[in-house]
Amino acid sequence: MEDSERQHVVLFPFMAQGHITPFVALAELLRRRRPTLIVTLVSTPLNIQKIKSSSSPPSLSSIRLRSIPFSPAAHGLPPEAETAAAIPFHQIVTLLHASRSLQPAFEQLIEDITQEDGRPPLCIIADNFFAWSVHVARRFGAFHCIFFTSGAYGTTVYSSLWTHLPHRKTDSDEFPLPEFPDIIIHRSQLPKHLLMADGTDPWSDFLQGQISLSSETDAVIINTIEEVEKTGLRMLRKVLPCPVWPVGPVLSSPSSASAGNDHIMKWLDSQPPASVLYISFGSQNTIAAPQMKELAMGLEASRTRFLWVIRPPVGFDVKGEFKAEWLPEKFEERMRDEGTGALVHGWAPQLEILSHASTGGFLSHCGWNSVLESLSRGVPIVAWPLSGDQLYNAKIMEEELGVCVEVARGNMESSKADRVVVEKVVKEVMHGGQRGKEIRRRVEEVRVLMKEAWRDGPGSSVKGLSELF
Ligand code: UDP
Repeated sequence: MEDSERQHVVLFPFMAQGHITPFVALAELLRRRRPTLIVTLVSTPLNIQKIKSSSSPPSLSSIRLRSIPFSPAAHGLPPEAETAAAIPFHQIVTLLHASRSLQPAFEQLIEDITQEDGRPPLCIIADNFFAWSVHVARRFGAFHCIFFTSGAYGTTVYSSLWTHLPHRKTDSDEFPLPEFPDIIIHRSQLPKHLLMADGTDPWSDFLQGQISLSSETDAVIINTIEEVEKTGLRMLRKVLPCPVWPVGPVLSSPSSASAGNDHIMKWLDSQPPASVLYISFGSQNTIAAPQMKELAMGLEASRTRFLWVIRPPVGFDVKGEFKAEWLPEKFEERMRDEGTGALVHGWAPQLEILSHASTGGFLSHCGWNSVLESLSRGVPIVAWPLSGDQLYNAKIMEEELGVCVEVARGNMESSKADRVVVEKVVKEVMHGGQRGKEIRRRVEEVRVLMKEAWRDGPGSSVKGLSELF
């Protein structure tokens, strides 16, 4: 796409950390790589405030931030729903539907930009949850591009499951994906809302609508790497009629450990190299109380050092006080006295932790940003996927890439976690078992591929971005 006269690009992420982080990183990347572009990032007021307070000013100074009004209360949601954090799972679908109400304000903003610049933006780069923005782009004659913030395989499998609901057509525990019969999905790899979906429920209504609209976009860029996700990209290109350009890894720049986190980094400084298992279930998720106990007991039995970002379990207020009864008796005291484990309540500087020499593994829910952050730092993954595309990210990473071992799956009442399995897998990955060694070797290969993708000249992601601008 070339048009030197019209060079304003508008970025529009869905309002959740896992979407906003890569969009901000993409905005910074665009400004660095194409200094002539004017880059505007649009979100709701609370999210714009959060972006301003969490990003380092020099990198943001070249990006224009614009907010458009959004009222969670008008949709029966609490104010904090605007950031999609700390709201119960059933409210997420209400938020997705509520986000459709942003269209008139977004349209007005594009109108304002058009007035200010004397011409419409060159391109609107929107989230796949905002595929409806293609209508806005068409009205103004702007190029429309969707930025997928999740991986190619996870995105395609998840979209295919929602489009065809194949589990409703069989009683079997395992079934093939209609478009890709070589891919066998197990019923336990379906999140609860997908398992319950019948095509007329609010989840199907929203997701099927946006999936179908995404085929109207002009191009797709995706936060993945051509050489790493060959299978996933082949699949995505088969289902989408437009060009698909991988531009990953698009990662936020590590800020120096922000205020209030010094104690975490100091604790890591005092640990031996590659000895610590970092544990986090992302920005929104948590596990069930019985699973928490199994994880703690498995960790203790494995005699592995760990740094665990912990939140109240499923069914409790995630922002509420953490109760010791959710963990084995005197667990935290024992870990503290022995100096072998640390719990972080709330938020941790993840990229800094993964970049630290003491970190040797990541027990992760396999959100795509976490996956990219871990692999880009050469840190092997112990997978505990919970929902959405996470389940398929874990599947491809274990089956094809060989960079992780799955230890448990899901956080529903019926989802089991077993301390014996936790102990075995953690020991294998962290204490140099045969499989652990192989995983480390593969992770290192993937780390190099990711770095090469952004090498000037031949890098595949450099090429992907230059296809767009
Ligand atoms: N994150 C963080 N500290 C935390 C939890 C999460 O910095 O305590 C960041 C993490 O580095 C990643 C993002 O939040 O960039 C989470 O995105 P991901 O796609 O992994 O999972 P999601 O939160 O969307 O499920």
